[in-house]
Amino acid sequence: MRGLMQGDHLLISSLIEFANKNHGDAEVISRRVEGDIHRSNWATVSKRSKQVALALDALNVGTGTRVATLAWNGYRHLELYYGVSGSQRVLHTLNPRLLADQIAWIIDHAQDQMVCFDMTFVPIIKAIHKSCPCVKHWIALCDESALPKDSDLPELISYEGWIKGFVGQSYAWPLFDENTASSMCYTSGTTGHPKAALYSHRSTILHAFATCQTDVFGLSAKDSILPVVPMFHVNAWGLPYACAMVGAKLVFPGPGLDGKSVYELMEQEGVTFAAGVPTVWQMLLNYMAPLGFKFSTLKRTIIGGSACPPAMIHSFQDQYSVEVLHAWGMTEMSPLGTVCTLKNKHLKLTREEQMKIRLKQGRALYGVDLKIVGDSGDELPHDGVAFGDLYVKGPWVIENYYRNDQGSPLIDGWFPTGDVATIDLDGFIQITDRSKDVIKSGGEWISSIEIENIAMSHPSITMAACIGVAHPKWDERPVVVVVLRPERTLTKAELLAFYEGKIAKWQVPDDVIFVENIPIGATGKMLKTKLREQLKAYALPIA
Ligand code: ADP
Repeated sequence: MRGLMQGDHLLISSLIEFANKNHGDAEVISRRVEGDIHRSNWATVSKRSKQVALALDALNVGTGTRVATLAWNGYRHLELYYGVSGSQRVLHTLNPRLLADQIAWIIDHAQDQMVCFDMTFVPIIKAIHKSCPCVKHWIALCDESALPKDSDLPELISYEGWIKGFVGQSYAWPLFDENTASSMCYTSGTTGHPKAALYSHRSTILHAFATCQTDVFGLSAKDSILPVVPMFHVNAWGLPYACAMVGAKLVFPGPGLDGKSVYELMEQEGVTFAAGVPTVWQMLLNYMAPLGFKFSTLKRTIIGGSACPPAMIHSFQDQYSVEVLHAWGMTEMSPLGTVCTLKNKHLKLTREEQMKIRLKQGRALYGVDLKIVGDSGDELPHDGVAFGDLYVKGPWVIENYYRNDQGSPLIDGWFPTGDVATIDLDGFIQITDRSKDVIKSGGEWISSIEIENIAMSHPSITMAACIGVAHPKWDERPVVVVVLRPERTLTKAELLAFYEGKIAKWQVPDDVIFVENIPIGATGKMLKTKLREQLKAYALPIA
């Protein structure tokens, strides 16, 4: 029998309609490529995203067509988020930090018909446009007067000129099935070709509902929210949608991701909530510490994308009174899987005991089911000790990759995350490693994350990566590669002594390698594949 509830489909356009109607004057602030700070609001974003939809109609861009963006976090990118998906096209956020060849490969794989790009990325457009025959329109995100004229570029349309023609025209968002594709994002492809996760209107709205909850991001119309995490990195962890759902003020950093720019924007715009990967927060803290700066409004920050070093959580909490919400997820999960927030029973614990919990990656949100599996394929107990391959399922976890000829990655309906984790009695997970980064020594596993976290807690170290190096007797032994803070010194013996008593003797790295920097990948994470390549000629000092 048909249910008796209203059957409206969950569409992304309903978010912008809601924000316009109920929070039209809530601000949307952007640091622009042009260098200035631009002020808009949800009502204007709503109006201009409808102009985008009309402009797409005028160019005969069909429903389901992929429209790519190559852009920083900013209001024009936000308008495209709503204009493209809301009008039943698919928004494809390209990661500009990938190599030009990879970007061209992805555009071809997705068969993007349009690419909308920030002026910063003109050199990429020059390099790729000839190898992207599927692209019919190149839209420069600028005023007509700023359109570059260069014979190495394809014919360009200025975004402002393009949508200007539709000012004041009415537009009604189309209604269609909520399972229709809305956006797509390619994984960074550290091994093999990147793979595409395709999100639907339904998965996006459900994910936004879940992230707004108090025990997840706890978002509110009272917040001023700064997604430092790029809109090309899994839709800035869904914040452009969740912020519309609650009517929050939204603050975009544009290309200014250095510590000084982020700090100034936070202070000027009264940011209360921010989100980013650890490397970005490291830059911010490194900028603030020597100057003795404090945050005047920031209350909470989501840190995820790679393990947040305990030293960073301590810094935020103890020095700056900012609550860190450690989160875990992945492109294939839209991205959120777990967030670390305490339960009622944890409130009576001491601060130190609470901190032990906060260092974990957190517990599942409603909608995400988790399990860990051992080598034999059996499910392992949730006792906080047993570790195994982490599997997930839920309405915002992919079932398959887009245009994937290798069959669905699911195993009995579960998605294998490629991460190794423990799950404790309270459901908190702790990621011990990515399965490909785990160090296997004498039949035992050593967590590279744990070795890195200890190194990062040393006052002289700003970054640390632990990798396994082949060993004739033990198969592999850990080696820690570190970057020192400016004007600090540290010897190998001092760092190795620092590990004593913190982990078992056999887990202590065999060597320390001091480097100027550690390669960072396209999503701001340490690129261990590249680091291993750089250290190919390295041999362990074997006693
Ligand atoms: P890619 O897989 O392309 O690098 P993702 O951004 O989807 O891109 O990365 C997901 C992976 O990042 C997870 O599978 C996990 O290994 C790692 N990760 C994300 N958040 C955390 C975290 N809080 N702690 C440890 N690892 C994390």
